[in-house]
Amino acid sequence: MLSFEEALKLVEQNTRALSTGRAPLGEAAGLVLAEDITSEVNSPPYDKTLMDGYAVMSGDIEPLRRVLETIGAGTVPRHVITSGTASRIMTGAPIPDGADAVVPIEQTEIIDDQTVRIQQADVKPGRHILRLGESLRIGDQVLSRGTLLRSIELAILAEIGRDGVSVVPRPRVDVLPTGNELVPIGEPLSGGQIRNSNGLMLVAAANVAGADARELRIARDDREDLQRKIKQGLAADVLLLSGGVSAGDFDLVPSVLGELGVEKIFHKIALRPGKPLWFGIKAEKDRRVLVFGLPGNPVSTLVCFELFVRPAIGALAGLGFSEPPIVRAKLNHPHDHPGGRAAYLPARLTSSIRPDDPSEGPTVDILPWHGSADLATLARANGLVRLPVEACQLAAGSRLEVIRL
Ligand code: AMP
Ligand code: MG
Repeated sequence: MLSFEEALKLVEQNTRALSTGRAPLGEAAGLVLAEDITSEVNSPPYDKTLMDGYAVMSGDIEPLRRVLETIGAGTVPRHVITSGTASRIMTGAPIPDGADAVVPIEQTEIIDDQTVRIQQADVKPGRHILRLGESLRIGDQVLSRGTLLRSIELAILAEIGRDGVSVVPRPRVDVLPTGNELVPIGEPLSGGQIRNSNGLMLVAAANVAGADARELRIARDDREDLQRKIKQGLAADVLLLSGGVSAGDFDLVPSVLGELGVEKIFHKIALRPGKPLWFGIKAEKDRRVLVFGLPGNPVSTLVCFELFVRPAIGALAGLGFSEPPIVRAKLNHPHDHPGGRAAYLPARLTSSIRPDDPSEGPTVDILPWHGSADLATLARANGLVRLPVEACQLAAGSRLEVIRL
């Protein structure tokens, strides 16, 4: 059987960033920039004051100054500062001609309507002024392609007047739950039925991973129904099916995918939970759809999402195919690992960085669980402990690798 590492490599090799498109700045948060950005403006666009105070000539030693005007942000000064004069000025306002320093309001005293006393006359040239272009000049590179657009990048793009940018779009993900036993959340259950919990879980996980995900209506274990709904899902960038990929009589997903021209890359891997995972590609002229047939059991679904689908969404979005960050933690109890398959087990990390012993670091408990249908145990987990293919008897205190959930 294919190892976890081989399977992951195959997903990576078959995943490339989506073609770029334009997005208005207001919709670009969380996307990856697909162009280099140079500034077409100077910032600030004029010499401006960084303080509320008085604009003055720095060489002027006269303590009493005649106040010429009040300059607010968004207005243009009308008077030139000369010896013995000053203009009251507010943060962000342009510096008037003749002035080369600002004295903060706290270091002045109003004498009357037209006179101010400057408490310390020996003010340095340039004090509290940001000069035209001092932050950014026309032609300066502001951002480079490949940068993730966070709030900060959006702010600088707004400052330089870019209201649209070239980006890698958000991958569109369709989630298709399959199974005759599945009932939508709000409906009562009759004999043999269970609620469709995977649909919502996968949509939420994909959205948090940076996709634009939606759920299709539950498909029954029936060729025509599966065909119809899978065709719908093949219009997305990624189709996530849940269920129907194991060895049962009603596990029709792999054969229906084959009939629809989805090329199988692999089926079944040495992973626990997650062994039935199916992965393939539907290639059309200018599009490639990644198709994951995720195992129906909720813990398996989630583990396969974290290990395979999350990095693939990142790669489509232009962030590169990166494995989840690993936390190293000390096991709180002994554990017997039967081996045979790599395992990712629901676990609870306690990030007890003890102030008296910072070397202690986080500890971890592997949660006793009832197999891959045990969503209740998964709901208590905040990590997945990674165990190797080889069998091992782990003593309490062993250092383990944990993926955060
Ligand atoms: P399957 O792979 O279709 O044989 O499903 C394996 C197990 O997962 C079965 O017990 C299903 O009832 C369960 N299952 C399948 N799909 C879902 C779903 N959308 N939500 C919750 N459980 C599911
Ligand atoms: Mg099923």
